[in-house]
Amino acid sequence: MWPIPQPDLDARSVYATCVSKTRPAKVKARLELLEDAVAAAADEYEKAAATGSLHALKHLKDQPDGNDPAKGDNKKLTGCYTSRMARKGSAGREIYDQLIKSARRGRCPLCGHGFADTIDHQLPKIAYPLLAVTPANLVPACLPCNKAKGEAIPAVAEQQTLHPYFDDVSGQVWLAARLTPPPEPGVIFFVAPHPDWSATLTARVQRHFATYKLARLYAAQVGTELAALSDYLRGKPYRAAIDEIHDRAASYGNRNSWQAALYRALAANPWFIKSGCLNEWDD
Ligand SMILES: [Zn+2]
Repeated sequence: MWPIPQPDLDARSVYATCVSKTRPAKVKARLELLEDAVAAAADEYEKAAATGSLHALKHLKDQPDGNDPAKGDNKKLTGCYTSRMARKGSAGREIYDQLIKSARRGRCPLCGHGFADTIDHQLPKIAYPLLAVTPANLVPACLPCNKAKGEAIPAVAEQQTLHPYFDDVSGQVWLAARLTPPPEPGVIFFVAPHPDWSATLTARVQRHFATYKLARLYAAQVGTELAALSDYLRGKPYRAAIDEIHDRAASYGNRNSWQAALYRALAANPWFIKSGCLNEWDD
């Protein structure tokens, strides 16, 4: 949802680094034999991600071993991530740290809100062992987003959540909010598809929004904001209050943060202020 640059890391080199200190020598030798397959899978992955087609990589699922992720080569490959990249002091840990740092201002690119202090596999490593340490498949993410997606695998294009390295909808306004009237005034966030979007992209953004429970996440933030706004506007003439709301909405431009969506909604619905709904908020 909030794109970040694809890491400037070569998949084959990253894999070789992770494997370099593997013991025993027998396991290391086996992993080295898999390097070409890992590099080829990474190449396919990047091409598919660039065209929104990760769902089409079904032939890579459960490879190279078949369908048992807990044994043989598949276990060795997933171990490359857990023991040889994510583990502190491991051969690939510097790469892991570099990926975490690629999050803009430490913020999770999947929700735009949490701290990006974990790595999420866009295609889960348990189902795609060959992609366990492929840099383009490793996205910095907050823990709730990482857990929310879990091991989900897209079966069709519409089921793909957005990929922060390859999908960019940040240039268009798509996040909107609806104000609900008394007796229980509230704010509901939702996706307002941009007219230029294809049906597939619309489905993907909505899938992303639902998967990471962004409506609930953003709705949980508004209390403090509206309570502070209510305090600030208290006693001000109605016209001045409306002008303030419009100024704040304009200051967010075309952003898709929950604050931007909230102020756009407030600016478009002056009844929310006039009816005293704003005064009912507390933090
Ligand atoms: Zn997140």
